[in-house]
Amino acid sequence: MTDEAPACPHCGKPEFLCVCAQVEPLKTRTGLLILQHPQEQDRLLGTAGLTRRALENSVLKVGLSWPSLSKALGRDADPSQWAILHLGASRAADLPRDRELVALDKKGAALPDQDKALGGLKGVVVFDGSWSQAKTLWWRNPWVLKAKRLALNPRKKSLYGALRREPRREALSTLEAAALALSRLDGKPDIETVLLQKFTLMLDVFRAAQAQGLVSTDGKKSAPPAA
Ligand SMILES: [Zn+2]
Repeated sequence: MTDEAPACPHCGKPEFLCVCAQVEPLKTRTGLLILQHPQEQDRLLGTAGLTRRALENSVLKVGLSWPSLSKALGRDADPSQWAILHLGASRAADLPRDRELVALDKKGAALPDQDKALGGLKGVVVFDGSWSQAKTLWWRNPWVLKAKRLALNPRKKSLYGALRREPRREALSTLEAAALALSRLDGKPDIETVLLQKFTLMLDVFRAAQAQGLVSTDGKKSAPPAA
């Protein structure tokens, strides 16, 4: 389609879906690195660009592999002071029920002293893509093994609701995952509240565009402007 609306340089969405003007970047102590699989084509419903826009201390990179955390981040960083958010082989049902953010050992089991494991982390790496794309990113970037491992065990389902079918309950959007992790690590619930407000706004704008026929019902592409 040649007549798609021009994309916003921040969130990558067509202008009629962009909510960036209403996003005031938040300062967080913990940094965020979003690694997006190049085939993550969810331009209309994806949240990586919006998350990057909403968090001052964040970096978004698109690709399959980077030689080190520092190279991916664009500045010196020690992977042992960072954590990677990836459930891997562990199952959400095996995680402690009283925690939504859980530090895992190398085998994927919850560490006994969670407060110690989660304390003092400088940043979190998240993969943006489907489960199989995230798995590819994990294996293509061996430096992630030097980082601590985190898993999410969210109490609430994704706000995507029926807009996107997720195979697992814990499958949150990149924005929701980042919001949960950073708000817990920084000890500031506001981070999650504000980010979820922006996500809700993004979804409201999307649903309104859908109702007007500006995006196809499966949310995959924007429709050509009406003649
Ligand atoms: Zn935008």
